[in-house]
Amino acid sequence: MRVFLVNPSHVSFGTAVITPRWMYVLAAATPSRFGDPVLRDETLDPFDVNEIAAGDVVGIGIHTGNALRGYEVGQLARYRGAHVVFGGIHATLFPEEVLERGAAHAVVRGDGDGVWPTVIDDCLAGAAKRVYEAGQIRGDRFSVARWDLLPEGRYMWASVQTVRGCPKHCSFCSVWRTDGQAPRQAGVDAVIREAVELRRRGFRFIALADDNFYPVSLGDLAQARRRSDPSRLHELEAIRAERFALMERLAMLPDDMVFFTQITMEAAEDPDFLDAMRRARIRGALVGVESVTPEGLKDVYKGFNLSGDALVERLQAFRARGIHVLGSFIFGLPSDRADTFAATADLADRAGVTFAQFVMLTPFPGTVDFERWEREVADTAVKIGGIPITRHWLIPQDRRPKVYVPHPVMTADEIRQRTQAVWDRFYALPRIWKRSRIVRSLKARLAFVLISKLYRQMYANTGIATDSARHERSVRVARMIARPCRRLFAAAPMPGLEIPVA
Ligand code: SF4
Repeated sequence: MRVFLVNPSHVSFGTAVITPRWMYVLAAATPSRFGDPVLRDETLDPFDVNEIAAGDVVGIGIHTGNALRGYEVGQLARYRGAHVVFGGIHATLFPEEVLERGAAHAVVRGDGDGVWPTVIDDCLAGAAKRVYEAGQIRGDRFSVARWDLLPEGRYMWASVQTVRGCPKHCSFCSVWRTDGQAPRQAGVDAVIREAVELRRRGFRFIALADDNFYPVSLGDLAQARRRSDPSRLHELEAIRAERFALMERLAMLPDDMVFFTQITMEAAEDPDFLDAMRRARIRGALVGVESVTPEGLKDVYKGFNLSGDALVERLQAFRARGIHVLGSFIFGLPSDRADTFAATADLADRAGVTFAQFVMLTPFPGTVDFERWEREVADTAVKIGGIPITRHWLIPQDRRPKVYVPHPVMTADEIRQRTQAVWDRFYALPRIWKRSRIVRSLKARLAFVLISKLYRQMYANTGIATDSARHERSVRVARMIARPCRRLFAAAPMPGLEIPVA
């Protein structure tokens, strides 16, 4: 009997940007009596289900975007006589759908690492429960991933998690509902041990795969100070102190290590925090800008962001402290108009963001937006191949629309084309070359160009294009660029690296 862990994907690039952390965490949670689990990441290569034998246990992790491919894998695995178990955000939200469409024996809801050994035992005893309510694990119980199972030379960045949960409540995001609003921080020692192990193996770039690296803002502290009961203030101060303790330890790692994280824009007005990030060599951060107008921010319940010139200033504050911003923008908000696209592209230029992604508003399950949309559309939802678009993830990729929510003044195709045009403009060669000035040597500038082009091919053309030829071409180009890109991120292993002591 073997345990398989499968990360499904309908598109494989041969090389992937970031390690799918959940697989290595569940691998660590797999008891040694079952041997090393077999990890299959389809963002690298398609999974050949013939590897599965009757009696094996197959764990499949899904989010909404890869659920359909996950269901295919589940059905094939069950057909081959395996015990099929699903987990991940989508399985947590729709256990019944997963049981039915993915031919699952069991579904794990919530953080799977704690319950995984029980699930395997139950499967082998023929007594798997339909649904396991795993809930949310405390930060100090997060499993340390098994990086010894990483395949050689396939990933550019490794991933470590330092905090789960986010206190915000953005309408398009499900994190605060699935991972909770109370930040759960991983133990500092555990994070550092993993970072050291990864550097020993030759990874010097590490993504801190956190929901929100800045869970306590100065505004939160000020608000708590106004309360007569100081307990909330003490709680927030303790969370913040732990963040600083973590960054101090990260700063003690080898100088060539670089980290990247996700953060809210409020961090820009917290110079102490930004300085600590710089010392920790957190050189890049995905910042959810979402919209450049106050109306757009209201649309997504993100009133804590700024707009216009104040927004430019905030984004520049990151740059001034040596932190490069990957700005994330959403198009298709009800208040968006035709001129919003150019205004967004201009702002991204003026603010000096190093990378940007422009996504089209998609109501993802588990979000406030989704619930509102589902209620509004009710029984009148358009169907494609018999599937209502309120279940868009079940529509085959080649027939899946790119825009779902009707817009007050723009057609779906207009939003798609204008979004594509903004990607084209931001990632035009002359602009990339200009932005590449952030690095000095010619070699580094060329590397910057290559990485920018790869990012665009992987995330824009394969996600927005409706033209299948363009899609195929993008996958081919991305496969081609990804290999040399990976080499740019690799470093010589440091097998003797010691864990720094505080
Ligand atoms: S989008 Fe970011 S800030 Fe908003 S709830 Fe999600 S994780 Fe938190």
